[in-house]
Amino acid sequence: MVREDEVRTAERTVAWPETTDAGVIFIGRICTPWTSRLECPRQGRRDGPLCRIDVFDPWAEALKGIGDFTQIELLYWLHRSRRDLVLQSPRNDGTTRGTFALRSPVRPNPIGTSIVALIGVEGSTLLVRGLDCLDGTPLIDIKPDRCQFTPLAPPQPGDFQIGDKAGDV
Ligand code: SAM
Repeated sequence: MVREDEVRTAERTVAWPETTDAGVIFIGRICTPWTSRLECPRQGRRDGPLCRIDVFDPWAEALKGIGDFTQIELLYWLHRSRRDLVLQSPRNDGTTRGTFALRSPVRPNPIGTSIVALIGVEGSTLLVRGLDCLDGTPLIDIKPDRCQFTPLAPPQPGDFQIGDKAGDV
């Protein structure tokens, strides 16, 4: 059975740094039907339940134009995750995989992303389908889905650059 916040036998944690590098602000809250990680889907589905995104003031004005898109990308803070695992054992069978080779919620910066269907916009509230996070999960950003988005700003040289090396990598 999966338990919340456990460290399994083969898994490895690291010491947590004393300082952080960036400040994140929560711009809203996500309302979903799930209150336990043990019930939450691992990835959202387009035919999943309708979920509500409440955008906080003063950020509601930043939603202007969002209704032009049928798909949007949400970034959220998986606030109930531990953050110190470098090796994880999803199957709990003694084998491990690195955190960055997984989409596990357990990661140093527990950012979740989903491309969701935008069903409606009601003032500062968005109605969406396709989420996989707990009720009350903090929202950190909203972007138009990149496939539906054409840059609005004038082009710049890097937009057309192909094949050059960046340094010696
Ligand atoms: N779709 C996102 C992604 O790929 O970046 C998240 C995927 S993650 C595997 C989804 C799982 O994270 C859920 O099944 C649940 O176990 C867990 N989860 C959801 N909301 C969470 C929260 N607020 N805090 C911690 N864990 C959460």
